[in-house]
Amino acid sequence: MFTSVLIANRGEIACRIVRTAKRMGMRTIAVYSQADVNALHVRLADEAHPIGPAPAAESYLVIEKLIAAAKKSGAQCIHPGYGFLSENATFAEGCAAAGIVFVGPPPEAIRAMGLKDRAKALMQKAGVPVVPGYHGERQEPAFLKQKAYETGYPLLIKAVAGGGGKGMRRVDKHVEFDAALEAAKREAKSAFGDERVLLEKFIAAPRHIEMQIFADTHGNAIHLHERDCSLQRRHQKVIEEAPAPGMTAALREAMGTAAVAAAKAAGYAGAGTIEFIADGVGGLKAGGFWFMEMNTRLQVEHPVTEAITGLDLVEWQFRVAAGDKLPLAQDQIPLNGHAAEARIYAEDPERGFLPSTGTLVALELPRGEGIRVDTGVEAGAAVTPFYDPLIAKVIAHGKTREQALERLAGALDRTVALGPRSNVGFLAALVRAEEFRRGDFDTGFIGRNLAALGAVPQPLDKAAVALGAAKLHAREASRIASLVEPEPDQPPSPWAAADGYQLAGARTLALPVTADGEIAIAQVIYDSAGLAVTVDGVAVATGAIAVETADEVFVLHRGRQTKVAPRDFSALDAGQEAGGGVIRAPMHGKVLEILVEHGARVAKGQRLAIIEAMKMEHSLVAPLAGIVGEIAVAKNGQVVEGARIMVIEADETARE
Ligand code: ADP
Repeated sequence: MFTSVLIANRGEIACRIVRTAKRMGMRTIAVYSQADVNALHVRLADEAHPIGPAPAAESYLVIEKLIAAAKKSGAQCIHPGYGFLSENATFAEGCAAAGIVFVGPPPEAIRAMGLKDRAKALMQKAGVPVVPGYHGERQEPAFLKQKAYETGYPLLIKAVAGGGGKGMRRVDKHVEFDAALEAAKREAKSAFGDERVLLEKFIAAPRHIEMQIFADTHGNAIHLHERDCSLQRRHQKVIEEAPAPGMTAALREAMGTAAVAAAKAAGYAGAGTIEFIADGVGGLKAGGFWFMEMNTRLQVEHPVTEAITGLDLVEWQFRVAAGDKLPLAQDQIPLNGHAAEARIYAEDPERGFLPSTGTLVALELPRGEGIRVDTGVEAGAAVTPFYDPLIAKVIAHGKTREQALERLAGALDRTVALGPRSNVGFLAALVRAEEFRRGDFDTGFIGRNLAALGAVPQPLDKAAVALGAAKLHAREASRIASLVEPEPDQPPSPWAAADGYQLAGARTLALPVTADGEIAIAQVIYDSAGLAVTVDGVAVATGAIAVETADEVFVLHRGRQTKVAPRDFSALDAGQEAGGGVIRAPMHGKVLEILVEHGARVAKGQRLAIIEAMKMEHSLVAPLAGIVGEIAVAKNGQVVEGARIMVIEADETARE
């Protein structure tokens, strides 16, 4: 076995690999960018090496830097984790050339499965069912449109180099094809540097079911059962579980056989996943599943498989990379109970799940029977725009699906993540959704139920604002009380009302605050009963958690965060901001297109600009009908979160 490993990754997966490697007696070597100097993975590892600036393209994705660090530290092997260079054949070859073992499949297998079109062709040859469509060489738009027509609608355009749902567009009608093709190609080009696409028939009520496979270098290949990853949002997994609800032994056998055939056809070794799409109409059935793609790495959701099998997949990866045979045969793989994983992200479900950055002012992750948490951050750490905003994965295991999901829901309720906005409340609602509980769901479930899951803009939580205002008031009151000598010429401030209640009659003070960027007025009432704070008559939230920082109070109430700050009058430029016509960048990114000109008349909902962030395109639309005033950015410019993009001036004559 190896005695040392360099982990070419960061975050929770780097921490998780360190744990197993240490248990196996290895010296663990971390790498870190400038943004990760204080990161958990750096502290957990035995030693750590800097590899450059924060952007991944200048650090975690630079093959030479990683190999140089491995050589310098004398690492025997490199574990790539997932993402970054984990499916990069050139990196695997670079490791081999430097005499370092790559803990992953052979480069040829990565290449064979790396492009969706080639992978599909290979699978077809191996007798694995593939989704009907077009996955050939020709890319002329007119030709693809003809093929789309022949395949039939609805269909999916997918980037051949795709991953993470990027470069993928669903097309429902022939007339929409051209625009969708253009958008898919543009996204594919910017995310993967390869704009080629393939076409696939869209499977109705699709279930995403994947088989975990393992192969060794002695010709053995087995599967470790399936995972159901059908709870997705925009083709990205949100909750994964194993086994799949409604799975039968016969179907598992059929899928497992196809998955093992796929692995063998690819000349595979190590951990991999064969993703299938299954037709969920009327329940899972043999003959109703097709190969989608193979992921030639460890998956984010591997812990659910570990929970039901009791195996450590990272240990197996090391063993296979060291040349061992697979530790178990197919019929020795356990399947105990049920497990489900929820991915906690710093993102805002109420604003289209936009990634949310900032310092984690509080982070309490759940513990409990059957609960495992994998994380790479701690309270005080910052979620930056540079990397995936995953905060933690919570995995629950139980005897039954019911028990596992109950445990997961409870664990999410006990989770406190404040600072950036998070999806914890959304996940808890999802785990409790009745249809999901019944096993009656497909990949469109989240998209169809956003409102019921709370993932739409919600009105300000006045009880939370009142609590935040009460904390701010108490803090200011005690600060003023602690001043020895009140300054005589200070004008009376509403914050300074530290004089307690009066015997005769009530006294009310108005405290202006900013709550999640909105202006609110809290009423501080002193009467014979003491002090009470309300907002529009709503009293302070009970059962909420409030965390104070120097400038703000973060309130967690019913799974939702409200950020309350004292209102800074000087910063307010009433007229313009109050009009609601200021279009701001929702996140750090690049301006791809400005779609309107100064002076143009726009309708409410009209697209104004496209911002690319986290490799996805986001359209900014007009919140009201009006005239384009100032345009503050240029095409291809970089913008920070909150930056002013343009102003829409209300136009009396415009109709909505
Ligand atoms: P990526 O590699 O970008 O993640 P995949 O090919 O793995 O893309 O597909 C991601 C998700 O998109 C799947 O899990 C599934 O929900 C959906 N999907 C993919 N192909 C189809 C299809 N042919 N019909 C319906 N849904 C699909």
